[in-house]
Amino acid sequence: MKLPGFIDSHLHVLGLGYVSYNVDLTEIKSIEELKEKLDKFKDRGIIIGRGWNQENFTEKRMITKCDLNEISKDIPIVMTRVCGHVLTVNEKMLELAGIDKFTQQVSGGSFSYETGIFTEHALGLIYDKMPLPTEADLVKYLLTADKILIENGITSVASDDFAIFPLPYEQIINTIKKLYEQNLLHIKITEQVNLGYKRLKDFISKGYVNKSFGKYRMGPLKILVDGSLGGKTAKLSQPYEGEPSNTGIATYTDDELFDLVYLADSNGMDVVIHAIGDAASLQAIKALMNSLEITKRKDHHHAIIHAQLTNLEQIAMMKEWNIGAIVQPIFLNSDIQIIESRIGSRQKESYLFKTMYDIGLTVGFSTDAPIEPVNPFLNIYSAMTRTSIKNPDLGVFLEKEKFEYDEALECYYKNNLRFIYQDLLSSDDYIIVDRPFSGSESLLKMKVVKTVIDGETVFDAMKE
Ligand SMILES: [Zn+2]
Repeated sequence: MKLPGFIDSHLHVLGLGYVSYNVDLTEIKSIEELKEKLDKFKDRGIIIGRGWNQENFTEKRMITKCDLNEISKDIPIVMTRVCGHVLTVNEKMLELAGIDKFTQQVSGGSFSYETGIFTEHALGLIYDKMPLPTEADLVKYLLTADKILIENGITSVASDDFAIFPLPYEQIINTIKKLYEQNLLHIKITEQVNLGYKRLKDFISKGYVNKSFGKYRMGPLKILVDGSLGGKTAKLSQPYEGEPSNTGIATYTDDELFDLVYLADSNGMDVVIHAIGDAASLQAIKALMNSLEITKRKDHHHAIIHAQLTNLEQIAMMKEWNIGAIVQPIFLNSDIQIIESRIGSRQKESYLFKTMYDIGLTVGFSTDAPIEPVNPFLNIYSAMTRTSIKNPDLGVFLEKEKFEYDEALECYYKNNLRFIYQDLLSSDDYIIVDRPFSGSESLLKMKVVKTVIDGETVFDAMKE
């Protein structure tokens, strides 16, 4: 069955490639198996792995520096535990991080020079000193992501790639441009330009606003005004459940945010703002409104990304000012188990994606990959069922917010066009799937068998 190529209106191409290219340790059953696996990655400048759990090891102990030294004494190795709060490094990485027997402990974390194990805040001692990716690394990450995207039937994305590594943004632009010139990168990318005030000024002065390089287009400014619900850093108007003094974290003051928004808006550049908490959404909407009051732009493509706790009053404001919503139904996959513990009864006013759609906001679907899998069928399944694929026992979250199949497709196709600056779906970008849609359960099995971009077959399952 033929469908148009999917558009994902917010993800991280470079981040997806980086995470996927690193060594997945989630299935490792022993330290011996780990050593065998890592042995195959010794051609890399650094070996980064994630997902180990000593409970799954036959040895029932943590990985130590000695284990990793056996793999290599010359290549730095960093192995992060499944929780993300513990990691082990080898001697070479300790050396790069400038850590020896005499190094002082840091507050809020601990490390051992003898075992090479780091926890909590001490992780920064390693993460800050890991070598930056080389040009060749960036290419590998981008091509890894490209392959995953086309295998999943994605042909266009809006992607945030400038903030993942502390590298000059022009290096990222040039690397992507070069890959297109060599016809190695297939998906079409609209960059969600994630830059702070100073670098944004530089970007504007160099004439990059709305510039296109073939399939690569400079899109809106991307701003993050808060954190996440899981990490209790999403900015709420009322405290988190059971924590009367914690309302989360706002990244900017109102004035700072306005200055940044206005700098973009007044230069004809759109703005998309990551806002998860209700206080964050309100702050973001107000900054956009205040800027639009002055610039009077009518044809803007401004949007809120996530909008998880955006309430009815705020949705009405978004409608009035034509601010779009880029949402991730698949976030319920993980969030369904934490929402109540974070916000209690306020959950009735959260993840109101269908309400936004019905009121007439331009609601675009995205996955925020690598945060959630990029598979559009799983995302549509989440939108239609409002259940967790991982934990179906947890039930349906707000029945009335379910989408119909056709509505979900509209959010993936027609509505997402606005976020990649297109008026029409290209008939030269399409996919073939292995079965017709026959109810939401069929989405869990649906596979892409062919992906075509600009008339060229870029993925063919038969030939893999
Ligand atoms: Zn994101």
